Amino acid sequence: MERLQKYMAHAGVASRRKSEKIITQGRVKVNGKIVTELGTKIDPDKDIVEVDGRVISKEKYVYILLNKPVGYITSVSDPHGRKTVTGLIKGVSQRIYPVGRLDYDTSGLLILTNDGELTYVLTHPSHMVEKTYRVEVKGFPSDEVLKKLETGVKLKDGLTAPARVSAVKRKEKNTIFNLTIHEGRNRQVRRMCDKIGFPVVNLKRIAFGPLNLKGLKTGQYRFLTEKEVKALK
Ligand code: URA
Repeated sequence: MERLQKYMAHAGVASRRKSEKIITQGRVKVNGKIVTELGTKIDPDKDIVEVDGRVISKEKYVYILLNKPVGYITSVSDPHGRKTVTGLIKGVSQRIYPVGRLDYDTSGLLILTNDGELTYVLTHPSHMVEKTYRVEVKGFPSDEVLKKLETGVKLKDGLTAPARVSAVKRKEKNTIFNLTIHEGRNRQVRRMCDKIGFPVVNLKRIAFGPLNLKGLKTGQYRFLTEKEVKALK
């Protein structure tokens, strides 16, 4: 059983709030009877819901894991005509959107879905999903300097929460390491590295909660399994 307004939102009628209004306006029928009660629950598999005389049906949820290439914006459309991540997904009729953001110059793991509730949960600051980035910075920060990324650096929007640095490799002119953070502030990793004096030259998200990029080349995507979706919630 599902709340009527949630079902309507999922069918793309309007947001949940607006759907509530539409219900109280007497524009919704369940099995031929007008319903104005907001607490009404329906069986999505059996009940027939009409809005303004038109039967609506719920879209299937889709969950996609994309290995985003550099040079795509994390958005559904771009007024400047740049390529968008949703343009990489073929044959999905549902209107999907990215969960959170990766910069134009950042590659790696990005989830796309039409499940607004999951998006809300995963991007809410209190949820704290672990995200791991493979970071390449210019120069050779000492272990002591890298430690600062773990304990917190002061950015203009406040001190960063505890993080983890691992798998440090120094090569030629650069240093590569994994940085695991819980927060998701705008350009956070780049700003943290700028702050310690070692700007990012390459950034790739390699893990998001229990998910990783195994088996996916850059630009490729796959659908999440039911088990993977459950693990995210
Ligand atoms: N941090 C950044 O700086 N950029 C991203 O794209 C993701 C995290």
